[in-house]
Amino acid sequence: MDNKQKTIVFKVSDNIKKQLIDYYYDMRCDKTPPYAVFQVKQYDCVITLYESGKVMFQGIGADIEANMWKDLENHTNNRNIDDEIKAKEEKEDDKTYYYYDAIGSDEVGTGDYFGPIIVTATLVDKNTRKLLEDLKIMDSKKMTDDKIRRCAPIIMKKIPYVTFTLSNLKYNELSNKGFNMNKIKAILHNKVLYELSNKNIPYHKIIVDQFTTPRSYFSYLKQENISEKVTKITFLTKGESKHLSVAAASVISRYLFLTEMDKLSEKYGITLLKGASDKVDEVAKKIVSKYGKNELNKIAKINFKNTEKILS
Ligand code: MG
Repeated sequence: MDNKQKTIVFKVSDNIKKQLIDYYYDMRCDKTPPYAVFQVKQYDCVITLYESGKVMFQGIGADIEANMWKDLENHTNNRNIDDEIKAKEEKEDDKTYYYYDAIGSDEVGTGDYFGPIIVTATLVDKNTRKLLEDLKIMDSKKMTDDKIRRCAPIIMKKIPYVTFTLSNLKYNELSNKGFNMNKIKAILHNKVLYELSNKNIPYHKIIVDQFTTPRSYFSYLKQENISEKVTKITFLTKGESKHLSVAAASVISRYLFLTEMDKLSEKYGITLLKGASDKVDEVAKKIVSKYGKNELNKIAKINFKNTEKILS
C-alpha cells in the first residue's frame, strides 16, 4: 500500500501557480484544508495547492499528475523539479544522520597505483563529535596532507576505531583470483565494521560511504561465504559530509596510507607518488630498473593499466 500512497510535493513558480488554479478550477472541492488555495480529489490522485506555492500530489496517480506540472516548469521556467527535490532530500539526509551516535567507514588507496588499500571504521558519538568539529575534520580528500598528519594522531587517541591494511601482495593475489575492486572493498569494510560493532560500545547506526549498490555489497560477501557480517547498514553517498564517523575514518585511513608511502619511499630511496598518473609511471620505471619488475608486485596494484605502460 505504501507506494500507492505516494506523495509528491514541490513549490511551483508564480506563473505556474496561476495555471494550476485555472486548470483545476472546475474540479475543486467545496472544502479546502487550512492554508490551501484549493483541493481536487480525482479517483487516483488528490491535488492540493497551498498559498505558499507548494503543491502536493497524493495517490497512485501522483506521478502522472505531478509530471505534467514538472514538464511545464521545465519548459516555461527552465526548472528541473526532480533535481530540486533530490537536492532537498540530500540536504535533509545531511541533517538526519549528523547527530546519531554512529559507526562509519571509509577507505583510501583504491585509486593509487602504489601503496596498500586501507579501510577504517570509527565510532563517533555525542561525546566525541565536538572534538572532530573543533579539529574541522572533513573528507580527507579536502584536507591537506599536513593537516591530516597533525589531526589523525589526535583522533586516534580519542575515538574508537578499527583499521585494516591490505598489502599490495595480498591485493594482487586477490585480483588475480578475479576479485574486482568493489568486492575487495566490501570484504574490507565488512571486516572493520564487524570488529568495531562488536566492541560493546553503544551506537544507533552503521554508515558506509557508498561505493556500490547495497545489493552488490551483500552479494560480494555472500559469494565468499562470510558469516561474520554486519547486515544493518545505511549506505550514504558523500557519507563523509553526512556523518563525522565517515570523515574521521577517511582521515585515519589517509594518514596510515601516507605513513606507509613514506616508509616505502625511504626503503626504495625514491619518493613514491599518489594517484595513477604518468608521473607515477616514471617513478615505477625507476623502481623496475633499480630493483627488477617483480618488485612491483610488492608495492603496486599490478592490474592497473600503469603496469603495461611501465613494462613496455
Ligand atoms: Mg569513500
